[in-house]
Amino acid sequence: METLKEQLLLLKDQLITYENELSACRRKTSALADMICHLESQIQSLKLENCALNEKIESFHNANPHGHRCRHCGSTKLKRIGGEPHKIFGDMGIVDTFFTCMDCEKESVITIDILK
Ligand SMILES: [Zn+2]
Repeated sequence: METLKEQLLLLKDQLITYENELSACRRKTSALADMICHLESQIQSLKLENCALNEKIESFHNANPHGHRCRHCGSTKLKRIGGEPHKIFGDMGIVDTFFTCMDCEKESVITIDILK
C-alpha cells in the first residue's frame, strides 16, 4: 500500500515537471511566432525597397535622367537606343544620342555635351 502511494507521488512530481516544461515551450513558441511575424514584415518592406530600387535602376538604364523631351510630342518618356560622337564637335565630347519616345514611338536625336 505504501509503495503504491510513493509511486503516485513520484508520478505527480513527474507530471508537474512536464507541465512546467510544456508551459516553457508554449512561451518559446509564442516568442518565435512573434519573431516570425516581425521577420515577415521586414521581408515585406525589403521587397518594397528592392522594387523601388529596381525601378530606379530601370530608369537609369532607360537613361533620360536629364529629362530630355521628345522632338515630336514633348514627352519625357524617352528610351535611349544609342549614340554616336557628333560629326563636327565629337572631339569636344558632344554626342548625338538617339532616343525612342515611349508615347509617340518616334525617334529623336538629341545632342548632348557629355562633359557637362
Ligand atoms: Zn513623342
